[in-house]
Amino acid sequence: MKPRTSQRTGYFTESVIREMTRLAILHEAVNLAQGFPDFPAPEAVKQAAIRAILDDVNQYAITWGAKRLREAVARKIGRYNGVAGVDPEREVTVCCGSTETMIASLMAIINPGDEVVIFEPFYENYGPDTYLSGAMPRFVTLREPGWRFDERELAAAFNDRTRAIIITTPHNPTGKVFSREELAFIAGLCQRWDAIAITDEIYEHILYDGVAHTSIASLDGMRERTITVNAISKTFSVTGWRVGYAVAPPDLTDAIRKVHDFLTVGAPAPLQEAAAVALDFGPDYFDDLSKAYARRRDLLISALSDAGFRCFVPQGAYYVMTDISAFGAPDDVAFCDRLIREAGVAAVPGSSFYRTEGGGRQQVRFCFCKRDETLHRAADRLQGLGGKG
Ligand code: PLP
Repeated sequence: MKPRTSQRTGYFTESVIREMTRLAILHEAVNLAQGFPDFPAPEAVKQAAIRAILDDVNQYAITWGAKRLREAVARKIGRYNGVAGVDPEREVTVCCGSTETMIASLMAIINPGDEVVIFEPFYENYGPDTYLSGAMPRFVTLREPGWRFDERELAAAFNDRTRAIIITTPHNPTGKVFSREELAFIAGLCQRWDAIAITDEIYEHILYDGVAHTSIASLDGMRERTITVNAISKTFSVTGWRVGYAVAPPDLTDAIRKVHDFLTVGAPAPLQEAAAVALDFGPDYFDDLSKAYARRRDLLISALSDAGFRCFVPQGAYYVMTDISAFGAPDDVAFCDRLIREAGVAAVPGSSFYRTEGGGRQQVRFCFCKRDETLHRAADRLQGLGGKG
């Protein structure tokens, strides 16, 4: 008999994170696994979406994105990311969330046998994304506590087959924010090996302790070899809206637009109008966002530390990676299972962020994009877990 499913679907498993959400619902656990806010989206963004629907912006938008949104993206990347003069007609593509933006970008540039360098631990989609696009991933490990990469190891991962490197800054799951020096080192390798930097900057506005966000596209010589992937999902607490975008030089944009058109035709038209309004919010919104997340971060870290976890304090994004050695659990999966069943808190086993055998076996990720009351409920449940830390 012929196999009924494609080989490529055999290379990866279902999402561990979404499976943890399913278990959280089943066991009525506090869900600190999947990174979606449980508090309302900003009123002005919701009103803009309602207005657009009532104004009958209800048919297909231009496939590569509503003009108004592409113009707002170009303004934003000039203002915030230091990439001036982006042409919204030739360098911006709107997709369905950064998830589609990433896979469309990879499919636009990958040929069979090409390699893509990925830092591990990594946001779990990148593994399947590379396989679906036909690339071979090459993993380079970020090591705790600072989650820095070894320059020699990274340099050794590049070769003639390297087509791209995926960077996530601020980083999920570790909360690392790549420094300008680290990005300059990566840029040098991209230039030496004629590789493209694909940078996922979806957490660019969630930053702590005065740490600044640097976009690799703003470094000398990198704009023409960078695809910047982003979305409104996290910054505006609208993960269900599915509006993301790629900013890339015109030749890459042409290819991304073609893939995107045949994958999804377009992102939701009225929500694109609301996204344009959101991107033009003033600095106060973004300051308040970081401040509110810093408070939630501190609340969760204090609860986790009291319970016996060793926390790696994030510089950005809304996750805490922890070390669970103090609990004496056989591994992260068994620990998360116990955490859901006994304590009623869902988290993500660290190993789901690694491909290297044994990676993340004593690590667990928690998210803190939740209301204070949710975090307090989790804190209460975490007490008495029996960590020796
Ligand atoms: N990129 C990173 C690093 C993420 O953490 C997530 C969601 O958790 C996504 C992309 C998905 O973004 P979107 O909902 O816009 O597809």
